[in-house]
Amino acid sequence: MAKKHITLLAKSSSGYFYNVEVYFEENNILAYCSCQAGENGMLCKHVKGIINGDDTILYDTKQKKELEQICNHLPETAIPLLVSEIKNTEDLLEEAKRNAKKAKKNLEKVLLGKIHKS
Ligand SMILES: [Zn+2]
Repeated sequence: MAKKHITLLAKSSSGYFYNVEVYFEENNILAYCSCQAGENGMLCKHVKGIINGDDTILYDTKQKKELEQICNHLPETAIPLLVSEIKNTEDLLEEAKRNAKKAKKNLEKVLLGKIHKS
C-alpha cells in the first residue's frame, strides 16, 4: 500500500476543531492531534474517537469517507487488539471494584455486628 496521509478535523468542546494528522503505514497507523493532550504526547479523545470509528467526533461530516478509510486499514494493524486489551482490563477493574465493595460490606457486617440486621 502506498504511503498516504489524511487530515481529519475533530470537534473541540469549544465548537472549534483540532487537526488530526493520520499517516498510513503498511501495518500501522500513526495519528497526531493538535489538541492540548495530543501536543503533550498523550492519547486524546479525538484520536480514540477516530480509531473507534466514532463519526460524531468529526467537525466536517463530509469526512466520513476518510474516517471509513482509516477504519478499513485498522485490521491490518495491532490497534484493534490493543484497544480490546484496554477494554478487557477496564472490565476486570470494574469487577474488582465491585468485589472490593462487597468484601468491605461483608467486613462491616461482621465487625460492626450487622449480621442480624436487614
Ligand atoms: Zn485531540
